[in-house]
Amino acid sequence: MTLHDAAGQDRLGLAATLDAKLESLDLAGRLALAAELGRAVFTTSLGIEDQVITAAIGTHRLPVEVSTLETGRLFKETVDLIGESEERYGIEIHRFRPEQDDIDEYAAKYGLNGFYDSVEARHACCHVRKLKPLAKALAGADIWITGLRRGQSGNRAATPFAEYDAERNLIKINPLADWDIETINAHVASEAIPVNPLHKRGYPSIGCEPCTRAIKPGEPERAGRWWWENDEKRECGLHVPENAAQPIVEPGPQAN
Ligand code: SF4
Repeated sequence: MTLHDAAGQDRLGLAATLDAKLESLDLAGRLALAAELGRAVFTTSLGIEDQVITAAIGTHRLPVEVSTLETGRLFKETVDLIGESEERYGIEIHRFRPEQDDIDEYAAKYGLNGFYDSVEARHACCHVRKLKPLAKALAGADIWITGLRRGQSGNRAATPFAEYDAERNLIKINPLADWDIETINAHVASEAIPVNPLHKRGYPSIGCEPCTRAIKPGEPERAGRWWWENDEKRECGLHVPENAAQPIVEPGPQAN
């Protein structure tokens, strides 16, 4: 039986075993192990963590598909970095975009920028522009690789190396779970990895342009995401079950 055929219980057990195994490996080893297990998809938001993973996949020629959610509301700097990364690492980054009909329906109901008006409207926009494209990006995948780190927010403090995503019936692998931001920055500098220029302008976490602002000194890394909402657990729904994301005010993917 391959992982592709494995039922949820088997995947749940495998995730627990993997979590312990991954801890002892370096980044390339973690990604290589993920790729051995089945069809592996890495979703990148082009954030600094994700660029570290993209660089490792490209440099080590790992058989991992790289995908991104082109929401239609990204910063120009983020969109430019997609092409730059493809060229630099000789890889293809698959773009998954929202359906125009869904965007039109959203705009008719809430207004194009209706996400500022309520948490419900914001989650509805993330659903159309992120979650539906994410479902397409992950269709048929066995492994989902993300750039989640424990240090990104209190919400992510318990991020494991491997976990079973019951909603999507796949194993999610977070190979940077134990990296801190200083290690990320040092690695980016030593490997000359291309990163979003917005990071240097006060944006440690970058999502859609209308929903991301620069942070002030001392603020948490993700404080600039959906800043007008008050709940400290703001997420877009990429990394929490969607039904749990509805009443919450933090999610992505990124990514994410
Ligand atoms: S982050 Fe903002 S613009 Fe992007 S999908 Fe979510 S609500 Fe819409």
